[in-house]
Order: sequence, then C-alpha cells, then structure tokens
Amino acid sequence: MAQTPHPRSNVSAIPTYVPGKPPTPRPGLTTFKLSSNENPYPPLPGVVEAATRAAGAMNRYPDMGNAELYAALAESLGVPVDDLAAATGSVALIYQLVGAFCDPGDEVVHAWRSFEAYPIAITAAAATSVKVPVLPDGRHDLDAMAAAVTDRTRIVLVCTPNNPTGPAVTQSELDAFLAKVPSHVLVVVDEAYVEFVRMVDAVDGLATYRSHDNVVLTRTFSKAYGLAGFRVGYAVAPAPIAAALRAVSLPFGVSSVAQAAAVASLAATDELFERVDALVTERDRVVAGVRAAGWEIPDAQGNFVWFELGGRTADFAAAADELGIVVRPFAGEGARVSIGEPEGNDRVIELARSFRP
Ligand SMILES: *Cc1c(COP(=O)(O)O)cnc(C)c1O
Repeated sequence: MAQTPHPRSNVSAIPTYVPGKPPTPRPGLTTFKLSSNENPYPPLPGVVEAATRAAGAMNRYPDMGNAELYAALAESLGVPVDDLAAATGSVALIYQLVGAFCDPGDEVVHAWRSFEAYPIAITAAAATSVKVPVLPDGRHDLDAMAAAVTDRTRIVLVCTPNNPTGPAVTQSELDAFLAKVPSHVLVVVDEAYVEFVRMVDAVDGLATYRSHDNVVLTRTFSKAYGLAGFRVGYAVAPAPIAAALRAVSLPFGVSSVAQAAAVASLAATDELFERVDALVTERDRVVAGVRAAGWEIPDAQGNFVWFELGGRTADFAAAADELGIVVRPFAGEGARVSIGEPEGNDRVIELARSFRP
C-alpha cells in the first residue's frame, strides 16, 4: 500500500463544533431561532449602505491593515492603535492566541462547560485543554483555575459572561485571580457579551488590560452589534501581544464588507445602546418568567439563559421545537436559549411552564 499524507495526530482529536440549528418549519406558526445567541435586530442604521458600497469594490483586496476599523476602535475605546488586532470573529483571535503563545503540549486552562470553540482551537494547535468545572451556579471557579496553572500553562481563558451558563465574573474576583497567576501566563478575558452585563462590581476590561502586561480582551461584532454573518472581532492587548496576534493573522482575513460594516456600526452608538437595553429588558423578563415557573437558573449576564437538564436535555429541546423555537442542547448537560424577539421569548416562558423542572 502506498503511504498517504496524514495530518498530525492532534487533528483527529479536535472536537466537532455543533452549530445552533435553524427552527423546524411549523405551518401557521412563526418560528424563532434561539440557538446561536444571535441578535434578532436588523443591521444598525447606515450599516447596509456602508456594506453595499464596500461590496461594489469586491474586485479589490481589503485593507490588510484594517486602518479605518482600527482608527474607529481606538477612538471609541480610548486605546492606541498598536494595542488592537482584528480578525474574522473573536474565535479567530482565540486560534491566533493559542497558535502564537503555545508549543505542542503546552496547557491552556479554561472553565467547563464554557465556549465550545476553546477546546477546538486548543487541540488544533496541539496544545492541551485543561478544563476546570464551573461551580454549581454556573460561575467560573477562579480559585480552582488559578490552582490548575502549572509550568506548562501559557494561557488562561476567562469567559465572562460565560457561554453557555450565563454568569459573569466580578472585578474583585478577577483582581484576586490576576494576583495569583504568574505574570508570564497570558490571561484572556473573552468579553463577547460585555455589552449585556448589568451587575454590581462588573469587570472593567479596559482598566484591567491597562494595568496588566499579561491581559488580553477579546470582543466581537457578532452579538450586540448583530454582524455575526460578517465575521469580525478584535483583541485589545498590550502592544507586544497585539503585534504577535497581527503577525500570525491570516493576510486580508477581515473582508472589506466586514470592515465597512464594523466601522459603520461603531458610528451608531445610540441605536446600539437602545437595542442592547431592550434585549437586556427582555432577558430579565425571561429570567423572571422562568424562575416564576419554578426553575432555578443561573444569573444571566449575556443574551441567553441556561437550563441545567441532565438526562432530560433532548426532551426539552424536542418540547421547544414543538413550540416553534429552537434551542441549543448540550447532550446530557442542559440547554442554552438565546434572547430573541419578544414573541419567541414568550414561548420560552411558556416552555418553562409546560416542561416541569
Ligand atoms: C459568540 C462568542 C464569541 C464570538 O464569536 P465570533 O467568532 O466573534 O462570532 C466569542 N466568545 C464567546 C464566548 C462567544 O459566545
């Protein structure tokens, strides 16, 4: 038999990403996709126009330096352009962080259950995913995560709010954690849902990155800004780290249409805040409705809620489907349900009432 090319052994160990499904069509019933934490609103004012203009120049490569996007982000965040790195979604930044900072066998510590892309990105780089179980209330166990740091640890990922369980870490907890982690270990604060956080002692990511040489923030236009289909995210990091991220990035990764849409979105701050506030109000209404139906669910600081269901997860997802909503089940663990249109959110409350805890 002739030898065939084969990938590195880690490749076959990469877990499969399970995307949220579209709803099953139900004749006579409006259906809602609550399975991918997407924004139910149409693009912010001016975004379709900016993207359409950019699409007209699709024969040209995008600006590889993302100059307008970096200028707009630097202005809105109050950070130097040198501290920014854009990529095709913040998922790409996680890949770049692991690729730039880990040798094969190096360890990346993160909570579990947390964002399912983490073990995928880590295993793809032949690094080792060190999973630290979340506390019973869905919060990060930051003491256990600090204790899990070894000589091989290069990165700790802190997902706040945590996808899929919902709670966010507090600034006091993050400060105490950072004080314990050696300064050569990179601490990545994944702030994909930062805009939705409403809590006492909330993390100030920008202040935290300014006061630590080992802190990286990752953010995205996919959730609050509603640009999930365009794939654009960014990191805010001390200049040497941001430079490493830009060095390993895919040349011309962020498309011209995505760059234009992101820049236009950053100009629509008032409308963004209005929509985020409306989603937060809806989230709080869903949490209250679900709890009133007898469910104990974790604090929800993102645009989603978490139902811990164990062996009943598949039945819950099937019951949701019957009601014309699609949720994201995690087999044997629970289901994450995104906050969507008010009518879809009503069905979530209806589901919580009919499917007994
Ligand atoms: C959705 C999400 C992201 C962002 O994904 P993009 O690649 O930017 O679309 C990052 N982290 C977490 C925890 C998420 O849930």
